[in-house]
Amino acid sequence: MIPVSKPLLGQDELSAVKEVLRSGNIIQGTKVREFEEQFARYIGTEYAIATNSGTSALHTALLAGGVKKGDEVITTPFTFIASANSILYVGAKPIFVDINEQDFNLDVAKISEKITNKTKAILGVHLFGQPCDVKNITDICNDHNLLFFEDACQAHGAKYGNKKVGCFGIANSFSFYPTKNMTTGEGGIITTDSKEIVEKSQMIRNHGQKEKYIHTLLGYNHRMTDIAAAIGICQLKKIERFNQARQKNAKELTQKIKGITGLIRPTVKPRVNHVFHQYTIRVTEQYGIPRDELIPKFKERGIGTGIHYPMPLHKQPLYKKLGYKDRLPVSEKICNEVLSLPVYPSVTRKNIDTIVRVLKDYA
Ligand SMILES: *Cc1c(COP(=O)(O)O)cnc(C)c1O
Repeated sequence: MIPVSKPLLGQDELSAVKEVLRSGNIIQGTKVREFEEQFARYIGTEYAIATNSGTSALHTALLAGGVKKGDEVITTPFTFIASANSILYVGAKPIFVDINEQDFNLDVAKISEKITNKTKAILGVHLFGQPCDVKNITDICNDHNLLFFEDACQAHGAKYGNKKVGCFGIANSFSFYPTKNMTTGEGGIITTDSKEIVEKSQMIRNHGQKEKYIHTLLGYNHRMTDIAAAIGICQLKKIERFNQARQKNAKELTQKIKGITGLIRPTVKPRVNHVFHQYTIRVTEQYGIPRDELIPKFKERGIGTGIHYPMPLHKQPLYKKLGYKDRLPVSEKICNEVLSLPVYPSVTRKNIDTIVRVLKDYA
């Protein structure tokens, strides 16, 4: 059985972890600093601040950016719940704007109608590795004096125009969870050009301390370990190759499943570099069998699949309890159609042929 996603860890990571363990310095230290410098250089920002998860990165970024109780933050309902929950963590209110069917990202035409005098920021998510409409979102932010934050947790190395995502917003978050394009086990990082964001974030992640045991603000323990950072340094050397392999697999799938009635293949927008965190097709009513019956067919042939995501955030029990009653028809429809197929670097041509075979057999 091949899973829908899988990290690639090898001898390099093993040696790097051994070296850290032997050193005895396993908590946030020199490896974290080295990883931060290298990640910032890779993305193209001045600074990076490592954390112990993508969720912690989002939480820290919003706090450091000054988002607080009473503020509204516009975001997408079609994402992993951490995007919106991080807004709740800081006491602000997520305002959901529907997505577009082409790339599953925020529909920028629907943003303006949700802006109020409480709107503080837009949190743009680059879903499945495809950048959201950065140009139009930053224009809206400039026109309405809003902050732009990127949730780049699925988009390490993705580009919008000729710049990598993670350098457009004021404080931008990445995750290194094992399913992501690169991993540190658990882990995350914020990228920014702002010295002020760096200083605040470093304090927030470490219990509000600037000096040891002098706590000037309410902080958290959001620190990354040197063990994780050592893995990250190894993974960062391979991320471009990893992404190229994902793109090659995606291209092959897209060519081979062309013309199957009822299947909609992922679109890649012009002028972006889509890094295919997920390769997600839509199985519509015109396809031979319902999506939920297709999943066990893949399983029989040894192929794992995933539904990213089965329920939009405004429909989640948590958000319903909070009083959300939005009707966001595109995300509500897409949730019933999406199916993610294995696309990670170690997926073989034989695996791809099996995937294509299954899709054709039930067309
Ligand atoms: C994975 C992910 C997160 C959270 O990252 P963790 O490292 O799992 O905390 C946030 N947003 C998006 C879009 C993600 O995919």
